[in-house]
Order: sequence, then structure tokens, then C-alpha cells
Amino acid sequence: MKPSPIAPPATLALLGGGQLGRFFVHTAHELGYKVMVLDPDAGAPAGKIADSHIIASYDDHDALLQLSQHCAAATTEFENVPATVLEQLAQTMPVSPTADTVSIAQDRIREKEFLRDNGFNTAPFIPVVDENDLNNVPDDIFPAILKTARFGYDGKGQARVASAREARAAQREFSTPCVLEKLLQLDLEVSVVLARTTDGECRCFPLAENSHRNGILDVTVVPARTTPALQQQAEQMASELAARLGYVGVLTVEFFVSDGQLLINEIAPRPHNSGHYTIDGCVTSQYEQQLRALCGLPLGSVSLHSNSVMVNLLGELWFQGESSSEPSWQLLHQIPNLKLHLYGKASARPARKMGHFTVIDQEPGAAITAAMAARKAIGIN
Ligand code: ATP
Ligand code: MG
Repeated sequence: MKPSPIAPPATLALLGGGQLGRFFVHTAHELGYKVMVLDPDAGAPAGKIADSHIIASYDDHDALLQLSQHCAAATTEFENVPATVLEQLAQTMPVSPTADTVSIAQDRIREKEFLRDNGFNTAPFIPVVDENDLNNVPDDIFPAILKTARFGYDGKGQARVASAREARAAQREFSTPCVLEKLLQLDLEVSVVLARTTDGECRCFPLAENSHRNGILDVTVVPARTTPALQQQAEQMASELAARLGYVGVLTVEFFVSDGQLLINEIAPRPHNSGHYTIDGCVTSQYEQQLRALCGLPLGSVSLHSNSVMVNLLGELWFQGESSSEPSWQLLHQIPNLKLHLYGKASARPARKMGHFTVIDQEPGAAITAAMAARKAIGIN
């Protein structure tokens, strides 16, 4: 028999307290739930607004005991939570995503091999467990990127290499298992955020077009400026992948479009920066969908009610003068169809994600023009 949905005022456990978690907490509160966050960082943005914040490591015995005693279900906003912790929590409550799927997504070697073994195209790659794996690599993989298998984000743990010699030097530097991946000429980068329930119902949010700067997401345009055929193919691939994983929860699939072909770059077992636009542009946000899938509620509509352009606000914006100062938000408040979101992080650092804004408009061109003008006005070059 299907378990009955988890109803408010139940408390939900959230592993990880970053900005993705903060939006989950906002949503949970709107729907009448409570949230207990586990994150070792006392200043974690989601911890500050949650009903309680356990400041402890993810595998802390007492912390996990508290979650088991007080929470009706558990989810994560961070893929580097030890999979064993999710497994342990699953003994007392529903957990989505599951330990199995998170353990694939948190290791680039497992992730890429899973994709290849299930027939999904990726950039050509070679797993590099140690330097010896670089002895006989084919020359045509260069230029390439060496990426650490674990803990990389926002382009961290990556080195561009032009030869096996350079790859060996980079591997020595990282001294951890890596993936060597061919550097592709990209036509476009796109992503699909989807939600899937325990019954296998799957809904994809509209395709997002992403541009990056220095390996960090900069702007997301929705709908992506591509053909309906490519949009449909990306959705189909993402849904099929979620089904192969037996995935429950919100999953993000990042794609490269190279030579007109869709390749899967990586997956994230959680809501995603490129899905922030769903807060202001869609009937249901990716965070509400995460909660719905977790609590056994029916999924919400993924319909896009407005063309949306999301712009990330990184820490360098706070360092435009001699010393650190708050950007001039009034420049953004003057734009009536611009929605500003700041994450409440205590201090700004270059490359740190501090907030974002989304411009929504009924005209796709107008949304892009206004967002790019706002981006420039606030001081992003
Ligand atoms: P995220 O913040 O998405 O977790 P990440 O650190 O895991 O990022 P990737 O998604 O692997 O890193 O790479 C970041 C960006 O670098 C990509 O979105 C793309 O712009 C560029 N990039 C990565 N791999 C390749 C490649 N093989 N060919 C061309 N560009 C690439
Ligand atoms: Mg990425």
C-alpha cells in the first residue's frame, strides 16, 4: 500500500545549509512544515532561518539520532553528504534522493561510467585513479580538462591540460582520483531540472540555457534559445536517466551541445543554480517540487508563466572600490519586473555566490535586454 503523504506541521530534515537549502526552508514554511538543518557551518544560510540548526558534521552520531527522533523525512541540498548517512536515516524515515543515487552523482568516475554504460553520450573521458593511468592516453583527447572525481564545484578542482605531460603534472598536484575529459567546442550549454516521484511520475521544467564565466554559472535564459527538437531530446534524455537511476526527488542534468549533439556533462541530485528561475518564472518552484516529491504529494505544474533571465551575483560585486561595501541595490529595485534574492551570507568573497536576480517578462527579448542592462548597471562587466 502506498504510504500516506507527510502532512504539516511535520518536521523535515535537510542535510546541507547553503542557499539551495535556504530556498527549501522558505518553501517548507510557506506550506506549513518545519525544517531541521544539519550543517557543520554555524553561518549556513539555511540554518539561519530553519526551525533548528544542528551544527555538527554530517556523520555525527548524536546529530543523526536527533534527526531520526524529530523528522518525518529527509532530503539534501548538497551532494557531498556521505551516502552512508542517507542510508542510515533511511532506516527510520523516507529519504530522497537515495544514498545510491547520491553516491553516483558525488563521484565523477562513477557518474561518467554510469552514463556510458547506460548509453548516454558524454565528452570522451578517461578515469585517472593515479598517474599510471595517464601513460597511454590517446593524443586526440587533448586539449583536455583534468577534473577531480570528488568535491569539485564552480570549476574548482579542474585544470586545463594540453598534453599527457601537463596532465601528469596536474594529477600530481591534485593527488586524488580524477577524470580526464576532452575539451569540447561548445555551441551551447543547457540544463534540465526535473522531479520524479516514488510512482515514477516525472516532470521536467523548461530547458534552461546557461552561460558560464570562469567555470561558474553567470546567466540562465529560459526558454533556451534552441530548437523545439533539441528541447524535447534533452527532456527525454533527462527523464530516461532519472528512470534508469530509479530517482526520487529533484534531479538536474547539465548538458553540452557540441556539433549540434547533446552530451551529458554532469548530474546534480538536488535543485540547481540553473533552476533558480523557477521561483519567479514557473507555477511551481524546484524547491516546492523537492518538498512535494519528498512528502509524497502530487507534483506541481512546471509551466513557465513568464520568460525568465537569471543573473548570479558573486562576491566580487562587493569589492568594487577600495574596501568591501554593499552593492547599490536601488539600481535593481528600480526595475519593476526584477526579483532580487540575497542569501544572507555573512561575508562576501570573490567567486562566492551571494545572491541572484531574475527578470521576468512576457516578451523573451525584453527579459534578456532588461537583465543584461541590470547586470551592467549593478557593475558586472
Ligand atoms: P558545477 O558548479 O556545475 O558543479 P563543476 O565544477 O562541477 O561545476 P563542470 O560542470 O564540470 O564543473 O564544468 C564547469 C564548466 O566548465 C562547464 O559548465 C563548462 O562551461 C566548462 N567545461 C567543463 N568541462 C568541459 C569540457 N569537457 N569541454 C568544454 N567546456 C567544459
Ligand atoms: Mg557543472
